[in-house]
Amino acid sequence: TIRAPAKKQTTTLTVAVKCRPLSQRACGRDIVRVKNNKEVVVLDPDLSKDYLDRIQNRTKEKKYCFDHAFGPQSTNLDTYQKCISTIISGVVQGLNATVFAYGSTGSGKTYTMVGTQHDPGLMVLSLHTIFDLIRRDKSSDEFEVTCSYLEVYNEVIYDLLEKSSGSLELREDPEHGIVVAGLRCIKVHSADKILELLNLGNSRRKTESTEANATSSRSHAVLEITVRRKQRNKYKNQVMRGKLALVDLAGSERASETNSTGQKLRDGANINRSLLALANCINALGKQQKRGLVYVPYRNSKLTRILKDGLSGNSQTVMVATISPADSQYHHTVNTLKYADRAK
Ligand code: ADP
Ligand code: MG
Repeated sequence: TIRAPAKKQTTTLTVAVKCRPLSQRACGRDIVRVKNNKEVVVLDPDLSKDYLDRIQNRTKEKKYCFDHAFGPQSTNLDTYQKCISTIISGVVQGLNATVFAYGSTGSGKTYTMVGTQHDPGLMVLSLHTIFDLIRRDKSSDEFEVTCSYLEVYNEVIYDLLEKSSGSLELREDPEHGIVVAGLRCIKVHSADKILELLNLGNSRRKTESTEANATSSRSHAVLEITVRRKQRNKYKNQVMRGKLALVDLAGSERASETNSTGQKLRDGANINRSLLALANCINALGKQQKRGLVYVPYRNSKLTRILKDGLSGNSQTVMVATISPADSQYHHTVNTLKYADRAK
């Protein structure tokens, strides 16, 4: 039997902003050029919301205030410790959570989620903590950790753990809710190999041939980590299941392009249905946090259906909005900050 734990009913949403360094000479395919770029983003840890409200009308600068903000010198571990580490213990207790990186192409979404050997990203750090918590658990409960890694591209689901995956369908399962039929789910025993696995999966993401730097800019990658906890003593044979979805979203320039021209949601190469549907769900969740239960439109896209469990009920949701400090990225940055600001 699978039992829903705890009783808290509303989803909590945390919004953080992460600003990447202006340039990274070491990486070859950097879209932010080293020359001719000025920094146009300032992070100020001392500004309070009250202060922002008072000065808002007196300056041309746009100012925003978020739950957390991370500057160019910050590491993924900083973001992890401030925004994610506390929700991981919930996942091991059977709660659901969703973390996603939102931002334009080249702003650092994949860097934040996957990271590098020297600066492991949120996906890797989360898995490390999960295994740490399991190792330190004093109960006699049995744990099982499984992972799946999929991509949503043009409203079609592909398995990133399979070499050449065909398209996969969503099914409604009476016991497990919405499931991706045929998705590979692997048992994981440690966090060691996960970076390799993610890099391999990412190399399978659909790329766009027309734009040199737009690798995977249209696809959403979802890593889902499931922790099953089989209770040994009091509640014999009861299983608690906690799911953590970590999402590397498609480039947000797609959503803002369509928003700015006021186009309605419809199928088409330029319109990313999943990204718009997620935006609508996040807006609803933001309102829910302020005004109590509202209708959250999950059913409008593949991505939001896949993420439903981690965006509803007693789930914790964290949005990391990634931006570049470069003046050439100004419009993307403003769009991302506006979006993140609306989500709060
Ligand atoms: P996105 O996934 O949003 O399109 P990437 O994560 O691929 O962007 O980042 C684009 C480039 O910038 C990559 O070469 C990446 O290594 C580099 N980069 C992004 N964020 C950082 C960061 N915080 N520190 C160092 N390099 C970064
Ligand atoms: Mg990316």
